[in-house]
Amino acid sequence: MSSVEINWDEKICIHAGECVKGLPQVFKVEDGKFVIDPGGASVDEIRGVVAKCPSGALSIK
Ligand code: SF4
Repeated sequence: MSSVEINWDEKICIHAGECVKGLPQVFKVEDGKFVIDPGGASVDEIRGVVAKCPSGALSIK
């Protein structure tokens, strides 16, 4: 379990889908809405996917 806070900037996101593909248990699309469940993976896993976001829309605290 992780306790990080993940921020997502909708205006920056280019919907490349790297986050959803990389960690589907954390980054999901439900009913057409982007949902983030920070408890779905370890902090390191989340850090890795956030680093792959090509637009810089994701950040963690
Ligand atoms: S990886 Fe980044 S740019 Fe791609 S969908 Fe996720 S938040 Fe948006």
